[in-house]
Amino acid sequence: MTYLLWLFFFIVIIFLSGVFFWSLKREPDENELKESDLEEWNCPSCGFTVQLGTECIYCGEKKPAEKGER
Ligand SMILES: [Zn+2]
Repeated sequence: MTYLLWLFFFIVIIFLSGVFFWSLKREPDENELKESDLEEWNCPSCGFTVQLGTECIYCGEKKPAEKGER
């Protein structure tokens, strides 16, 4: 019976550390995405003002490279 408990404990620890490393790895990517996603941009091929996302919902054009680099 104690063997099962230890096995369960072990699985929980592995799962938690997996989630921890996954969120550590993922966080910078998410921040970058959020920043560029918040800006409005005008689609160069159809002139539609895209408020959200990096792809024009009207014609599917991708967002052009940033004008000003920081
Ligand atoms: Zn477009």
